[in-house]
Amino acid sequence: MVLALSGPSGARFTYQGVSFWSAPDHTRVVMALVGPAKAKVKRKGKLLVVHVRSRIKGPYRRILKVNDDLISLIRVERARGGVSLFIHMKKKTSFRVFTIKKHKGLPFRVVVDVLKPPSYLARQKKRRLEVGESARRRHKYIVVLDPGHGGSDPGAIGLYGIREKDIVLDISRRIARYCNSYNNIQVFLTRKGDYYIPLQKRVEIAHDYGADLFISVHSNKAPDRRIDGVMAFVLSKRGARSSLVRMLEDIENTEDIVKDIKLSRSRTTNRVVLDVAHQFSITEGERAGKLILAYLSYMAGMKNRGIRKASLKVLKNPGIPSVLLEIGFLSNKRDVGRLKSRTYRDRIAYSVCKGIVAYFNYRDRIKRMRYYMVKKGDTLWKIARMHNTTVDKLMAVNNLRSSRLYPGMKLFVP
Ligand SMILES: [Zn+2]
Repeated sequence: MVLALSGPSGARFTYQGVSFWSAPDHTRVVMALVGPAKAKVKRKGKLLVVHVRSRIKGPYRRILKVNDDLISLIRVERARGGVSLFIHMKKKTSFRVFTIKKHKGLPFRVVVDVLKPPSYLARQKKRRLEVGESARRRHKYIVVLDPGHGGSDPGAIGLYGIREKDIVLDISRRIARYCNSYNNIQVFLTRKGDYYIPLQKRVEIAHDYGADLFISVHSNKAPDRRIDGVMAFVLSKRGARSSLVRMLEDIENTEDIVKDIKLSRSRTTNRVVLDVAHQFSITEGERAGKLILAYLSYMAGMKNRGIRKASLKVLKNPGIPSVLLEIGFLSNKRDVGRLKSRTYRDRIAYSVCKGIVAYFNYRDRIKRMRYYMVKKGDTLWKIARMHNTTVDKLMAVNNLRSSRLYPGMKLFVP
């Protein structure tokens, strides 16, 4: 993959003119405008006409050859005090049009998504279920790696125009390559190219594959340019948070998308079951995150900023150990220098993979352990003595924060 990591001016890294991105299930066309305007849409057969009463920001290209599954070409014409976009679709298919307000240095935009039919989405989902099932039959641990952002959403834009969406995709691919060389691990990516996926869809993909571990890969930016290193996040449902964490929640929860594609939320799940499932995602995500950070700091020499809790949509994965990694700060010179180096990105990926392997080794050890069902009147001390071990060891392997037990509770015995 070729990374556009250096360029003559900053302009290339933000929105200019008309752009498009081909995702597996849709093609997104984005028009950057100098000011806010309403979009008028007309369809004539396979031709989609979008008119706005504003001017295009940046260079003006009259024809864009797309030629993907959905669109053959796009024509841009100046007309009636504004601009018209003629989208020549290959088939008469459904679409949606919406606008995005100016924010974080990005201009006002009109977005047209040309969509593949629902039957295509259903086929894709079925395929994910099947390959996940087949990996499980071959006794593999399934890892779903989620390169953050993509397409119309560049993520953080750092020094020298370095873009988060490119860095995290490249690193994720390298992690996948390393991990797939282990015969007990199978990695799937939520996105394989430069296109956007809504946060809830990323979660859905992890569930379709039946992930044993979900890792969302990001690169942060901080107002203080001296801040560098790696950190990880697991889900928190509430609580006081530092300003850095709040800033990050703000960045990672921003969706470059309309509300109308929310996935069904009508699943009626028992609250208690859901709470337990969330707790499992958090404690196990924390365990995996800690191991990965340790390897990153040990093998790639990056400063370990530890694990924090944050309320991040992409981590709402009941039942799946989930962690969000922030690899490097794009506002820090040393980190950017490292992330721009292919050799260094490879070293980072190798370290993350080592952390993942260490986590699954732990899971293997747990699987081999016997467990004890707590009975009324049992205490940790009594159980420890019964199994020739100590209270400390029992608490560590079971990740217990207090010594309170209840009948029916399962305890691993080392
Ligand atoms: Zn991010």
